[in-house]
Amino acid sequence: VTGIVSLHFRRLDRVDQAFGIEALNQLLNDIGERLGNRLEANESLARSHEHTFAALIPVGTDEADDADRHLMARAHALVAAVTEAGFEVAGDTLQVQVYAGVARAPPDSRDAQELVLRAEEVTQRGANSDTELVRWADHTIKPAQRQQIKFESKLQRAVTERELVLHYQPIVDLASGEVVGAEALARWPQPDGQAPIGPDHFIPLAEELGLMGRLGAQVFEDACRQLHRWQAHPGNAAFWVSVNVAPAQLRDPDIADHFSAIAREVGVSPAHVKLEITESALEHGLDEVIHAIDALAAAGFPLALDDFGTGYSSLRRLIDMPFNIIKVDRSFVSQTPDGRGAGVVASLSQLSSHLHIHALGEGVENAVHEAFLRANNYRFAQGYYYAKPMAAADFATWSGWPTD
Ligand code: C2E
Ligand code: CA
Ligand code: CA
Repeated sequence: VTGIVSLHFRRLDRVDQAFGIEALNQLLNDIGERLGNRLEANESLARSHEHTFAALIPVGTDEADDADRHLMARAHALVAAVTEAGFEVAGDTLQVQVYAGVARAPPDSRDAQELVLRAEEVTQRGANSDTELVRWADHTIKPAQRQQIKFESKLQRAVTERELVLHYQPIVDLASGEVVGAEALARWPQPDGQAPIGPDHFIPLAEELGLMGRLGAQVFEDACRQLHRWQAHPGNAAFWVSVNVAPAQLRDPDIADHFSAIAREVGVSPAHVKLEITESALEHGLDEVIHAIDALAAAGFPLALDDFGTGYSSLRRLIDMPFNIIKVDRSFVSQTPDGRGAGVVASLSQLSSHLHIHALGEGVENAVHEAFLRANNYRFAQGYYYAKPMAAADFATWSGWPTD
């Protein structure tokens, strides 16, 4: 039995555009060298296409299952060889994206040529599934492209190295006036005194680069760990955190299992970890998203509908979904009590009370906003009036808790 592992490297044309053909050739050389070092004695490697390598893997068994397992393991090892560390390109470290295709003969084919094509077909299919990704054909924007590539590989590294940190913004119960919870908001710290990068700049990119699953799991786990420490302080047992969940995360059918496992391991109850889902995540009504949301609710996570009023999801769908809180967007709250948004804030309160869902007003910046929410029976409020998002230690100090 013989196998082929075809490795297709994505978006390398951008390296050409941003750094020139010499840098690309150097990178391909380096990739080839890495792969070569990872080969076993009887294996061999060739460049089959522009950005594609093929490894020939002889298998010492005729037992199909064993052969498949071996080829799969070899494919994973070769992928790891080129992804576990970045490559030096023009003085910077670049992470490459790779798709691997595996084929074996028999039964895939006896002809080596055809075997290679089969394996490549698979990698092509992988690459085509992501046609949304930006293509840079315009040579006039080179410096911008270069910046973008650097930014992307930095974000990739930040996620791999868990560089992102969470800040926390208090959520106030308007009935008692107490701080009852905190929303976790991601920040990307930068070196030498530069301001951290805000989520509006890196969350969409993380979604585009396929990093959101990993990033989201880190955020969730970090928030659970912080909650666990805070709940240990006297009188804090009912304190909760809210964690934002991006649409891309809801396309993972196992998200509820993953989150449940993390909460269990950390030792917090799902009841104290609210998940914020933006209205826009529901706009297309994807079945998989609806399933994920139902599964999260069934696992015991309270759900908040975020940025409510800014999307276009049908009311019918919202009525059927298991949300516990609606968070009314700050663009409306900021227009209270006299602006156009005030009517929206008031009518959403009516809607939520009909649905037996709590209403939360976002972006409360002064006492007038707060009074308007209170007068309209809003249960919760959040905004700069109480506090801006703070590092965990500052949040504890601000709350009068011991820092840990
Ligand atoms: P969001 O979920 O609507 O979060 C509230 C945003 O409003 C935060 O911005 C917060 O700092 C800001 N804010 C709070 N109170 C006020 C106020 O009184 N006035 C004004 N002008 N702004 C206020 P931030 O931290 O920049 O986050 C922006 C967005 O990024 C968030 O909007 C959320 O959608 C997203 N995001 C943040 N962290 C995560 C994360 O870990 N995962 C995901 N999927 N998204 C995240
Ligand atoms: Ca939110
Ligand atoms: Ca919001």
